[in-house]
Amino acid sequence: MPQARKTAVVTGAARGIGRATADRFIAAGWRVALLDIDLAIEAAPESDSVFPIRGDVSNEAAVHAAFARIAAKFGRLDALVNNAGIAVFKPLLETSFVEWQRVLEVNLGGAFLCALSAVPLMRQGGGGAIVNITSISGLRASTLRVAYGTSKAALAQLTRQMAVEFAQYGIRANAVAPGPVDTAMAKAVHSPDIRAAYHDAIPLGRYGLEQELAEAIFFLCGEGASYITGQELAVDGGFEATGIGLP
Ligand code: NAD
Repeated sequence: MPQARKTAVVTGAARGIGRATADRFIAAGWRVALLDIDLAIEAAPESDSVFPIRGDVSNEAAVHAAFARIAAKFGRLDALVNNAGIAVFKPLLETSFVEWQRVLEVNLGGAFLCALSAVPLMRQGGGGAIVNITSISGLRASTLRVAYGTSKAALAQLTRQMAVEFAQYGIRANAVAPGPVDTAMAKAVHSPDIRAAYHDAIPLGRYGLEQELAEAIFFLCGEGASYITGQELAVDGGFEATGIGLP
């Protein structure tokens, strides 16, 4: 009997790094559910391989309902990519508590809630892999990233917690920390000064491509990474290695 095709859930897959990641899985023959809060997700046509779902990863009922639909359609789950995220670039004294809470509930709470629904499904199949998308903003402090950087540093710790707790179920958990990638998010929060500083500070001298992030994420979900868990991989053109501060 032919083996059932592998399946993945990618959150925040309507555009940017999430979209490129979903495309990478689909190109490799996986079936992929794309979970995104943006209406644009509904424009992606549903097929045997692609299952677009509109939903907010920070809403417990919505996440639960989305994974119930995914379980019904795919019947198994091999990988979860917690990519959905939002950025507020402000100093602490200019960040409202509402902004702080929203960044934490999407970037950190979303990964928690999706794992809560995904892990039972993965366990039924004997294992799986989780990749959480953190950021170099969680590895260094800067004046602008009080909520965003804190959420990503916490997500890195949540990744390690997941790795230790879920190993017994055959589930690995890792994080990918992107350097700057010219997505809608970066266009919204990277000023000309930030862009210029990144270009000077990154040894490879450029922003990353969405596809370059997708390759690393896909690798960590696959058999080639079978002994890797609890790690955070910076995919950042060498920025982290320089020790230079974030612009
Ligand atoms: P993006 O804004 O282009 O895409 C993010 C996607 O997440 C969007 O489709 C958005 O609708 C979705 N999303 C936002 N809130 C959601 C929610 N509550 N529920 C479901 N979906 C939601 O951003 P991107 O640059 O592609 O970012 C992807 C991930 O990479 C994020 O976690 C981001 O923090 C991280 N990251 C990006 C960069 C960068 O420079 N672009 C750098 C480091 C880390």
